[in-house]
Amino acid sequence: MTFSTFSFDKRIVAGIDACGYSTPTPIQNQTIPLILKGHDVMGLAQTGTGKTAAFGLPILQRLVSDSNKQRTPRVLILAPTRELAQQINDNLKSLAGQTGIRSSIVIGGVGMGPQIRAFKNSNIIVACPGRLVGLLSNGSVHLKGIDTLVLDEADRMLDMGFMPDIKRILSQLPAKRQNLLFSATMPKPILELTKRILVNPKTVRI
Ligand code: AMP
Repeated sequence: MTFSTFSFDKRIVAGIDACGYSTPTPIQNQTIPLILKGHDVMGLAQTGTGKTAAFGLPILQRLVSDSNKQRTPRVLILAPTRELAQQINDNLKSLAGQTGIRSSIVIGGVGMGPQIRAFKNSNIIVACPGRLVGLLSNGSVHLKGIDTLVLDEADRMLDMGFMPDIKRILSQLPAKRQNLLFSATMPKPILELTKRILVNPKTVRI
């Protein structure tokens, strides 16, 4: 398969070229069509497989083809560590290239002010659960416009004790949304989380 199979907007194709990707990875081949069709997806995959673009590209495609051009958070991506959040954000920025789609990051260890301002002017938020709960608790931000949720490295988030924070975040999201969950392993608590969050999910294993 080639990326042209997916009929991405030409600005996204330019982003893919700028990243130097010539052919989709196996997880991209399997996941992109499902996400474009609007399915909830559970992906069993490790980092390093091209997972970020597997969910990032169809999300960007949906945002560019949407008539609602307002810059307000529509997509929430939760990741376990600052480093991973930064990596996802950098990858999305490169892929988004000329689309005008903005992503920003919500992580601990840096000032809140600039993050809050960037949050309000972004389409995609990449966040670590702890800092996002902090911003939600003090009323700095809300998640009322989110229609797509991505949980990346769900097993690591669980290991790091983020489950209570994730539940608080879930309680503030609109009920009608697309849910994508990625995990390298599928222990029982992740399976339970999957059952609780995903609606008729398609499973992708690589
Ligand atoms: P990830 O699993 O998302 O962390 O991606 C691992 C690495 O593979 C990153 O450096 C990506 O930029 C790169 N990558 C993702 N998709 C492709 C692709 N289709 N072709 C070549 N490299 C890719």
